[in-house]
Amino acid sequence: MSAVNESLIRDVVSEVLGRLGGTSTVTSAPARNGFAPVAAPAPAATPAPVPAPKASNGSCGCSAKKASSTDVPLRGKFGVFATADEACAAAQEAFLQLRQKGIAARRKIEEIVKTLAEKNAESWGKLEFDETKIGRLDHKIAKLHLIKLVPGVDWIRPDARSGDFGITLEEYTPFGVVGAITPSTHSIPTMSGNIVNIAAAGNAMVFNAHPSAARCAATAIRAYNEAIYRETGIENIATIIEKPSLDSFNALCKNELIRLLLVTGGPMVVKAAMQSGKRAICAGPGNPPVFVDDTCCLTRAAKGIISGGAFDNNLLCIGEKEVFALDQIADQLMQRMSENGGFKLNAAEVERLTKAAFTFKEGQGGGCSHASVNRDFIGKDTSVLAQAAGIKLPTDTQILFGETPADHPFVYEEQMMPFLPIVRVKSVEEGIEQSLIAEHNYKHTAIIHSHDVENITAMARALDTTLFVKNGPSTAGLGLGGEGYLSFSIATPTGEGITNPRTFTRVRRCVMVDNLRIY
Ligand code: NAD
Repeated sequence: MSAVNESLIRDVVSEVLGRLGGTSTVTSAPARNGFAPVAAPAPAATPAPVPAPKASNGSCGCSAKKASSTDVPLRGKFGVFATADEACAAAQEAFLQLRQKGIAARRKIEEIVKTLAEKNAESWGKLEFDETKIGRLDHKIAKLHLIKLVPGVDWIRPDARSGDFGITLEEYTPFGVVGAITPSTHSIPTMSGNIVNIAAAGNAMVFNAHPSAARCAATAIRAYNEAIYRETGIENIATIIEKPSLDSFNALCKNELIRLLLVTGGPMVVKAAMQSGKRAICAGPGNPPVFVDDTCCLTRAAKGIISGGAFDNNLLCIGEKEVFALDQIADQLMQRMSENGGFKLNAAEVERLTKAAFTFKEGQGGGCSHASVNRDFIGKDTSVLAQAAGIKLPTDTQILFGETPADHPFVYEEQMMPFLPIVRVKSVEEGIEQSLIAEHNYKHTAIIHSHDVENITAMARALDTTLFVKNGPSTAGLGLGGEGYLSFSIATPTGEGITNPRTFTRVRRCVMVDNLRIY
């Protein structure tokens, strides 16, 4: 063999080992006291693909075989793959690399995602806004600035017990590869928060984004993977299917490398995930009611309702969607709303908007007409809704509102547009009962404005929601102006609550009998 060939082969082997985190000069093993950044050369924009190495994971060969059995090169893609199977195989390899590189690599991933989300908030916010054409650009940007509030590696702490029979340690350990479905309403923010949570727990993941918000997600995931590879040598910790579809969702659910699903979306995808046979953590739909009684500060209530309901043109699943107000304070509340960025529509204007914002199909629901939301109005600006209502608006209008009965489509549908129906109720009991009906037992989010602890307690017990916010905007429930932490995936029907790194772990117990108790 010539000297040239020998040197070439050495370089290639070194490169491959480096990418695997082996003991090459390119990538180093984790340092004893923390993660030693790899001295990997910055990858070229489209590095030459190298063959997928065997992803050996010990004695059981099935997953390892699957991972290397695709003939498609898994390198050089920086997370973006054509099929679910390639994306899963690449993520499985990344999971094995992350396991080898330890906690310090998880910390590095968390730091990179939070830093890049912050740094690219403006450009990625615009990219998502241009692609989806829903919501508000300023709030798309704001949501990316919030990724720093997502909990990370520090949340993975073991629990220990020490007693007469020795010591026991319970550790929160990874599953492997998580399949994650993201919504059109916040594509990059949900994906970014999910990466922080899921990788903090030691997992890799594969995303199937909403088709109308998939290009921006692919751009962000590529940037995350490039930076993560540069710093840790791990290439595909979070992968994505470039052109997502129902078929790719089904392929993801069927892939045996996927140990767990995280679904963020509406009722259909929650149902599909629950029927998949995989364990699913479901961040499902909401239709958050607000109840306002006569003991609260009405100015504070009005400001809270507008700030939460108007955020991103009411695309948030936690956002205020309908208001029940005690009759004796309803006029004052609406007056305060008008003084704080709201604009009141009269009955005829509400009627015109309703006809534009919903389509009514006859024959469903026992002969009654059934309303479904007109997607052309979801997440649109107040000016678009105002035009449909036949009016011109002051430019600083945050949200529209108007009086409706309790059985109005704007009350019972999750409309996701900046119009709030205001329903008068005669008693606290009626307000709570109507709130319960409007929430549809999603057990997602409810809000009350009240200084009466008995009213607050009664509503909290009756609604039984995952988030219950008192005297503030709904967003306070995610740590924005309220105590707490942030995630854009709030697991409601499956009960895990506001997702955090522990949500994506298996609890494993290690027991030492009689010994190692040191007192
Ligand atoms: P959506 O349900 O239309 O889509 C969500 C995701 O599911 C997308 O990736 C979509 O492609 C996929 N999907 C939809 N139907 C599917 C099916 N039958 N099989 C497989 N995949 C399917 O929702 P959206 O309009 O993108 O987002 C808004 C919805 O998501 C609202 O209902 C909102 O409340 C909910 N949401 C919930 C949370 C939460 O944390 N609980 C967060 C954000 C959004």
